[in-house]
Amino acid sequence: MTVPFRIDLAGKVAVVTGGGGVLCSRMAQALAECGAKVAVLDLDLDAAEAVAAALRADGLSARGFTANVLERPSLESAAELIRAEFGPCDLLLNGAGGNHPGGTTSKEWLDAADLDEPSLTTFFDLDPQNIQRVFNLNFLGTLIPSQVFARQMVGRAGCSIINISSMNAFRPLTKIPAYSGAKAAVSNFTQWLAVHFAKAGIRVNALAPGFFITSQNRALLMDQATGEFTARSRKILEHTPMGRFGEAGELVGTLLWLASEPASGFVNGVVVPIDGGFSAYSGV
Ligand code: NAD
Repeated sequence: MTVPFRIDLAGKVAVVTGGGGVLCSRMAQALAECGAKVAVLDLDLDAAEAVAAALRADGLSARGFTANVLERPSLESAAELIRAEFGPCDLLLNGAGGNHPGGTTSKEWLDAADLDEPSLTTFFDLDPQNIQRVFNLNFLGTLIPSQVFARQMVGRAGCSIINISSMNAFRPLTKIPAYSGAKAAVSNFTQWLAVHFAKAGIRVNALAPGFFITSQNRALLMDQATGEFTARSRKILEHTPMGRFGEAGELVGTLLWLASEPASGFVNGVVVPIDGGFSAYSGV
């Protein structure tokens, strides 16, 4: 058992999008350890099934499913398979998301001289299609699965949705305007949906992880040649009062608190930072 405390999810069905990834596979494990039947849903079926198989090997209940969080028909097909296998969804963890290099500027600040430097991607060079790609994955990739799986929650007690926001949502990080805007939209949507669903009995909250080294951001945070922290990593650590990156398991306590009706049944529409103090620190 790897959870910091156990909540009772026996008989509950949890759907984890992006469940084949680094942070959400850890959260899928925690939900399974608390007794949930976990649908590990990912674009990458092999990754989803590998996570589910490891959970089954530990005697837990899990299965991998493939779906694209941006395509409603693909989600609807997965939702029907999941319902047939496990029953209707009680808990949706909207984990699929992330940044893309195409939505990233080369430098933090614009210098006039940069405009003539073809090797740099300035704000003026960002392709709207790349911005849209990042925005859609994070925002629509949260909204569309909520449409599909929350439909199964209406009229049933104790159901909830947990979204994944980010530090970007509180204040944008340099270089990544698309991801920052998209995660701000996820936080805003968390509040909107919490209000909209309140009388239907579905709670909606979000985790806002600080900085965790994962496959998506490793190239930005670790020098590939030396294995040392990059200048950006050092800056992050300087602005994280606890002076370190987070570990995926450190998201689990907040996840379980928000997933537990007895523990957080009156908590609705919150975005909880799990960030070693990053969002509280002004830098001075
Ligand atoms: P990850 O890349 O390890 O996992 C993301 C998973 O989503 C992958 O398995 C990928 O196959 C899947 N995915 C991508 N596009 C998909 C689609 N269209 N449909 C279905 N699945 C799709 O990422 P991670 O670092 O574990 O991040 C998980 C979540 O946490 C993301 O929403 C990310 O934005 C957020 N987050 C991460 C950090 C961090 O420090 N790593 C910080 C804040 C927020």
